[in-house]
Amino acid sequence: MATKIWLSSPHMGGTEIKFVNEAFDTNWVAPLGPNVNGFEEDLQNFTGAKHAAALTSGTAAIHLGLIILGVKPGDTVICQSFTFSASANPITYIGAIPVFVDSEDETWNMSPVFLRKAIESGIAQNRKPKAIIPVHLYGMPANMEEICAIAKEYNIPIIEDAAEGLGSHINGKSLGTFGEIGVLSFNGNKIITTSGGGALISDHVEHVNEARFLSTQARDNAPHYQHSKIGYNYRMSNICAGIGRGQMEVLNERIAQRRANFEFYKAALADIKAIKFIDEKPGYFSNRWLTTVLVDDTHTGITREDIRLELEKDNIESRPLWKPMHLQPVFSKYDFFGDGTSERLFERGLCLPSGSNLTKEDLNRVVSIIINLYSN
Ligand SMILES: *Cc1c(COP(=O)(O)O)cnc(C)c1O
Repeated sequence: MATKIWLSSPHMGGTEIKFVNEAFDTNWVAPLGPNVNGFEEDLQNFTGAKHAAALTSGTAAIHLGLIILGVKPGDTVICQSFTFSASANPITYIGAIPVFVDSEDETWNMSPVFLRKAIESGIAQNRKPKAIIPVHLYGMPANMEEICAIAKEYNIPIIEDAAEGLGSHINGKSLGTFGEIGVLSFNGNKIITTSGGGALISDHVEHVNEARFLSTQARDNAPHYQHSKIGYNYRMSNICAGIGRGQMEVLNERIAQRRANFEFYKAALADIKAIKFIDEKPGYFSNRWLTTVLVDDTHTGITREDIRLELEKDNIESRPLWKPMHLQPVFSKYDFFGDGTSERLFERGLCLPSGSNLTKEDLNRVVSIIINLYSN
């Protein structure tokens, strides 16, 4: 069997172990310590967010973000439908109700047109949404100019799911810094990893202080354990944060490598007219976390599933685009505003192997299988 090519696997830079060893040597093996503080500072410096709280996951950051913005049971929260389930799951953790909004073709992310429809429909029923969760899928920035303008017009806060978008920006402004609260993830498959982890970033110090408080069991200021709020155990460990500090040293390199993967695939598959890539809008910069393609089978009869299975035969992992939330059995009962764009993307779209640790031979193996499939 040919060696496995993964969709997106962890890629250590080398200095992570130094920070982890420091934690062991100083016995900071706890959910606080110098690596946590250092990692938060690195995230602030990199993104330009004024404050950051390192947490156990991106999912935890979304959950706390909703609580911090005051979302209560029975409230509605607007969420991009075309995303990973972790964007929407935390809405239900607090007994709130998701309302799903479709994507637009230019960015594949939240459609401003359907966002406005969803808000107006909510207001008409006396249920103004309490928050909006746009997502930057595969690193491509959502249309934040328009989404922020609409959010401002209706005075609804944004929790920006930038779990896939660390290192992406719009005219130099980092993703995660457009909303009232931004969310990052350092899961094993993301552009950098802490093995598992996330962060809540914001320019509002009170939000980030509240995230630190709630993520460490909401302990009041007293010598004994006293609680006047429900707490969570969501703080990042000093060991994981050590991995994060090492990863931050190579983040720019990782972005360049992922973008080079995209350019390679685009050039190598340029002759196959049935395969299309998504371009950046002017001023938009994507970290190209995953290289994605849309497969048009009308003239060739070759579907994205044919490509996926052909790659799988050679031990190469690829994956359909995210299945929209409004089509998921667990979310199908909730309201959806859209025109079928995300469903079409899901039906035709495929993520190609995109790790920053892929070799030239790996990339050549992937494209030669696809080219062969089309030349037969
Ligand atoms: C990975 C991811 C999350 C969740 O992050 P975790 O750290 O895995 O909890 C949320 N949203 C999107 C879009 C993601 O890709």
